[in-house]
Amino acid sequence: MAEKEISILDREEIERKEILKRYKSLLRSIRHELTNEQKKEIRSAFDLALDAHKDMRRKSGEPYIYHPIAVAKIAASEIGLGTTSIVCALIHDVVEDSEYTNEDIRRKFGDKVAKIVGGLTKIQDVFDHTDSMQAENFRKMLLTLSDDVRVILVKLCDRLHNMRTLESMSRKNQLKISSETLFLYAPLAHRLGLYNVKTELEDLAIKYTQKEAYKEIGLKLNAKKAARDRYIKKFIEPLKSSLDESGLTYEIKGRPKSIYSILKKMNNQGIAFEQVYDLFAVRIIIDSKPEREKADCWTAYSIVTDIYKPNPQRTRDWITTPKSNGYESLHTTVMASDGKWVEVQIRTKRMDEIAEKGYAAHWKYKNNQDGVASAKTDGVDGWLSRIKEVLDNPSTNALEFLDDFKLQLIHDEIYVFTPGGDLKKLPVGATALDFAFEIHTEVGNKCIGAKLNNKLVPISHVLSNGDQVEILTSEKQYPKEEWLNYLVTGKAIARVRNYLRESKREAADLGKAILKKKFGKDKVVFNDDNIQKVLRYFKVNSPLDLFYSIQKGLISQDKLDIHFIVNNKIKTITKSDSLVKQNSTNKTNKKEIIVGEDKDLDYTLSKCCNPIPGDDIFGFITIGEGVKIHRTNCPNAVSLMSNYGYRVIKAQWQDSLVKDDKKFIAGIKIIGIDDVGIVSSLTDIISKNHGVNMKSITIESNSGTFEGTIALFVDDTKHLDLLIKSILEKHPTMQISRVDLNS
Ligand code: MN
Repeated sequence: MAEKEISILDREEIERKEILKRYKSLLRSIRHELTNEQKKEIRSAFDLALDAHKDMRRKSGEPYIYHPIAVAKIAASEIGLGTTSIVCALIHDVVEDSEYTNEDIRRKFGDKVAKIVGGLTKIQDVFDHTDSMQAENFRKMLLTLSDDVRVILVKLCDRLHNMRTLESMSRKNQLKISSETLFLYAPLAHRLGLYNVKTELEDLAIKYTQKEAYKEIGLKLNAKKAARDRYIKKFIEPLKSSLDESGLTYEIKGRPKSIYSILKKMNNQGIAFEQVYDLFAVRIIIDSKPEREKADCWTAYSIVTDIYKPNPQRTRDWITTPKSNGYESLHTTVMASDGKWVEVQIRTKRMDEIAEKGYAAHWKYKNNQDGVASAKTDGVDGWLSRIKEVLDNPSTNALEFLDDFKLQLIHDEIYVFTPGGDLKKLPVGATALDFAFEIHTEVGNKCIGAKLNNKLVPISHVLSNGDQVEILTSEKQYPKEEWLNYLVTGKAIARVRNYLRESKREAADLGKAILKKKFGKDKVVFNDDNIQKVLRYFKVNSPLDLFYSIQKGLISQDKLDIHFIVNNKIKTITKSDSLVKQNSTNKTNKKEIIVGEDKDLDYTLSKCCNPIPGDDIFGFITIGEGVKIHRTNCPNAVSLMSNYGYRVIKAQWQDSLVKDDKKFIAGIKIIGIDDVGIVSSLTDIISKNHGVNMKSITIESNSGTFEGTIALFVDDTKHLDLLIKSILEKHPTMQISRVDLNS
């Protein structure tokens, strides 16, 4: 007994020392000089957090305080944030997890800190919510973002640390948190220009959502490292002597792609690792005086292109016109001596720091080097004010809003000019109509076409970099439903939706009056109950839709026998009907999958990704169709898991699967050199040697190469791998990858 007590005391002592050690390491990581005042503030935040979390532990069993200390350290050393953010990071979980209130924080640390912590508290990582609440949660986060961008920066530090320590969470939460990270946080980090944070978030997320692929690519990258380094060295060699002669102080390095971006490329283009792995960038970082930055970069550019031939279509000057997340760099793609294209990025140390760590790193410069850097803050400010515009639109519902916002996050940009020569930044894919809304809502509403470099084009015309666009308007024009098909900017989409909603409401008001009159004529009481009956009769979703349909003549008034409709029993299809039907047609006989902890729960295999035994899977509780099983790398998985996390349920294949006749559908894509008899050779290997049945096979030839998709019935992933292996043995030059059959 006594012994045990001592060991507990020992452990407490060891932990106390460890906590202090971590706190000191945080202090050391702060890059700017601290005043005594600031030191005190950070210390008192630490003390408060220590007290508030004193009895709490993380899922891993570690003292909870490790988490806020780690978050603060990320804020300080990896994003370069200042004292206020460090204080907020230390106490970011205090209000949520302890007796302390936001008022306590205000008294202790003042208004600014209280406001940021309040914003952080509002954004909760709650998983058991409805979908619209989840979207509402995102919306809240973005709302606080426009108050003070530090809320979102600290939130990203918080998320990064949670991702780094995700191992100890349950499988369900790993999937959910990872998907949410891919869906929202990584794009957000990207948009804020936090390249390092974004890349790490993405890589960590697929470590959990696509375990196997992650492991495999990681191993292969390691295996190829020596060859890659040799290649880069050889490429750099001739550049060095010229750069040295020019008198520039510089550093050159090669950067391999992240695991996430390699995987994305493999999946998107259906190509093998070997075709992606050696795509890397060579970066030249120049130590330059502020007033020499641009000239020095172009000097380096001219040296590079003297030695290697550049591809003129792939030179980008983001120094003269920085991206709106603040990114500045000069890019060119040149041909190396072995005929491979290599991207070369040229930038100064300052630009490099902004590119990797984001704007916060740049704020530091703003104080030091007046004028040079601060002139370029427009980017983030402009972005924040655009977000604010969308937010200020009160009628947008949360889910739509999220879509619009996502649009703003993911697109690359083009630059387009007004007739007067003003520059507008638009996402890639933006149309003349987007441009019109960018100028003014009224110009957008009345837009009938555009003059592009003096040529007439329709409103749906997709703009290119450097276009000069004049918008043509007409007083008779008004926004139409189909406009939504050719808009890509969040602002324009929100405006058009708004207009459509308004005009629908006006039409519905008229329709309601018509219906009410008709009710009176047929001597039926105009109440909710009876309106519901009419609604069900015509199978429309809401009273608004009903009124609108009547006003627009979509429901003809001759058919409108209210008396008949209201007094007849109308059979409506209930949810349980459709559930029963679903189960009887689509149910698998034996339970190959354990859903949650339940061996007997019914499920169906989803058709979008066709899981087969051996695949990493999860269950998704649908409305009316029971549990559906998806692969964790299903194209729909990220959005399902991040938006409807509370409906995700753990699922795994039974280990001891009794081999029976049950087969599963899987798709493979094969690319290769076209040859006579290729189809019969493939079908031979597949059906004769392996006894596998094919559901379908399509092969398309195209100037010497072919691309084929085959749907097969297999036992499991091992069976499929074996089959792919034997095709490759016979045809070593082919590329074979698994594909989703419906995409
Ligand atoms: Mn936290």
